[in-house]
Amino acid sequence: MKKIAVIGAGTMGNGIAHTFAQFNYKVHLIDISQASLDKGIATISKNLDRMVLKEKISIADKIETLSNITTFTILAEGVKNVDLVVEAATENTVLKTKIFKELDAVCAKNTILATNTSSISITQIAAATNRPDKVIGMHFMNPVPIMKLVEIIRGYNTSDAVMQTIVGLSKDIYKTPVEVNDYPGFVANRILMPMLNESIETLYNGVAGVAEIDTVMKLGMAHPMGPLQLADFIGLDVCLSILKVLYDGFKNPKYAPCPLLVNMVMAGKLGVKSGEGFYDYSENRKAEIVAEVFR
Ligand code: NAD
Repeated sequence: MKKIAVIGAGTMGNGIAHTFAQFNYKVHLIDISQASLDKGIATISKNLDRMVLKEKISIADKIETLSNITTFTILAEGVKNVDLVVEAATENTVLKTKIFKELDAVCAKNTILATNTSSISITQIAAATNRPDKVIGMHFMNPVPIMKLVEIIRGYNTSDAVMQTIVGLSKDIYKTPVEVNDYPGFVANRILMPMLNESIETLYNGVAGVAEIDTVMKLGMAHPMGPLQLADFIGLDVCLSILKVLYDGFKNPKYAPCPLLVNMVMAGKLGVKSGEGFYDYSENRKAEIVAEVFR
C-alpha cells in the first residue's frame, strides 16, 4: 500500500487523509466541491499546527504531511493507480452505491474499496460492484487523527486476504483495528445509539434534566462526556438516521427513535452544527435545556 484515495473532504475525510499522509502514504483527496477540498486542507493544516505546538510533530513533519496530499474534483482522475480507496462521502445509500459502481468501473482490478459508513450495509454497497470480495468497512472515529479505534467490517463476501491487509494497514497508522461482522450499526453504533436514545427518553419522560443526566453518566460511569452532549456533538440528525437503520434492520421496538429526538431534528435543532441541541452552543455557550420547548 502506497497510494490511497480518500473520497469526501468533510469532517471524516480530511481526518482520514491527514492520518494516512502523516504516516507517509501518498493521499489523493477527492471531493465534488472545491470549497470542501479547500476547507479540508485548511482544517488539516490547522490540526497539524496544533500538533506542532504540542511538540508531537516538527514543522518539517507538517510540511511533509501536507505535501503528501493532492486534491481532485474528478473521481476517475483521483483514483487512478491507487491501492486503496476509503470512501467518506455523505451518508446516503443511493450516493454511496453510485460511487462504488463508478469506482468498480474506473479502479484497477486489485484496488481495495473501503467505506467509512457509520450505518449502511457493507454487503449492500459491495453488491453494486463486481468485486464484493474487495469491499470492506473501515469505520474511523471522530476526530480521526486522535481516536485510536477503527472498526473493520467484514461484508458477507469480503475475503480473508482483504481483511488481513486492512487490519495490517490500520496498525501501520497506529490505530487499533477491531474486526466485526456486517449487521445494522456494526458494534459501535449498535451499542452507543440505544444508550443515547435512552438518555433522550429519560429526559422526555421527565426523570431528570439535561445536566443531571449527563452528570450521572460522566461521574457515575466515568464517561468523558455525557450522552446528551455526545449526541449534540455527533449531530442529532445523524443519531436519528442511525437509529432508523437499526430499527429498520432489526424490526425491534427497542431501537425506535425517541419522539423528542424526532421533534428536535424536525425543528432544526441538530446540536453543535446548528448552534443548539440539548445545549446552547451560541455565544455564551451556557447549557440550556431546550427539551421542554419541544415536548
Ligand atoms: P461531511 O458532510 O462532513 O462530508 C461529506 C463530504 O462528502 C462533503 O465534503 C461533500 O462535498 C462530499 N461529497 C458528497 N458527495 C460526493 C461525491 N459524489 N464525491 C465526492 N465527495 C462527495 O460528512 P462526514 O461527517 O465527514 O461523514 C462522511 C462519512 O463518514 C459518512 O458515511 C458518515 O456516516 C461517516 N462517519 C461520520 C462520523 C462523524 O462523526 N461525522 C463518524 C464515523 C463515520
